[in-house]
Amino acid sequence: MNVLTIPLTRTHFSFAALTTNAPVTARGYREIKMKEKDIKSLITDFVDFLLPELTPYETSLYLYLFRNSILRDCSQKVRIGKRTMAQGYGSGSRGAKTNYAHMTKVIAGLEEKGCLSIGDTTREGTEYTINLPHDIHIVQEKIATIQPKQKDEDYFTDLQKRNLLFERDNWICQYCGEKVTKENATLDHYIPQSKGGKNTKENLRTCCLLCNGIKSGKAFEEAAPYILKNIQERRKRKNK
Ligand SMILES: [Zn+2]
Repeated sequence: MNVLTIPLTRTHFSFAALTTNAPVTARGYREIKMKEKDIKSLITDFVDFLLPELTPYETSLYLYLFRNSILRDCSQKVRIGKRTMAQGYGSGSRGAKTNYAHMTKVIAGLEEKGCLSIGDTTREGTEYTINLPHDIHIVQEKIATIQPKQKDEDYFTDLQKRNLLFERDNWICQYCGEKVTKENATLDHYIPQSKGGKNTKENLRTCCLLCNGIKSGKAFEEAAPYILKNIQERRKRKNK
């Protein structure tokens, strides 16, 4: 089963949570109970990010396969023949029945866009693995581009916001535990700016000048031994 990668600020329904303890109905399908927020995020992702990338035929077929895999029995896999699919997913603009070649083209389009992958074919049909909207690369890319705009509040350059963070950390250096004052308090980027760290409150820590000097530009794991050494040396000096 797929392990879902979930972007930090968004809540998505988890596939695993969906399948846990799902009772099997008389028809042999699992009965899915989705929470309202799960349905909301699923449909929002689909309409906002995936729909604009698909042709109407692709949309129609994706929904048809989604219903017959994930919504039917909590499995991303479905084995189905093209004829059955063609009957199930509607007819063309003038009521024309979908032909085999057209069906193949629509499936290939969906595969190319990462909406499904095509497995082996047996007498019962071809196996398809259907991806959830937020597992599809083009959807993830779009979500990634809109996210920074939503949450990138600058806590580094805004003086009032800086003070909020000092207050949050009780005016204590988050690396060595020393008290800091208005005069020597700094904010450290936990993930350095050079490595893509943002001016968000999650990424900023109250820091004394000494620790900031050691940590600056480094990831915490890199800087930790040096910070520790410095703390030990400071203690030694104090005790002398
Ligand atoms: Zn410090």
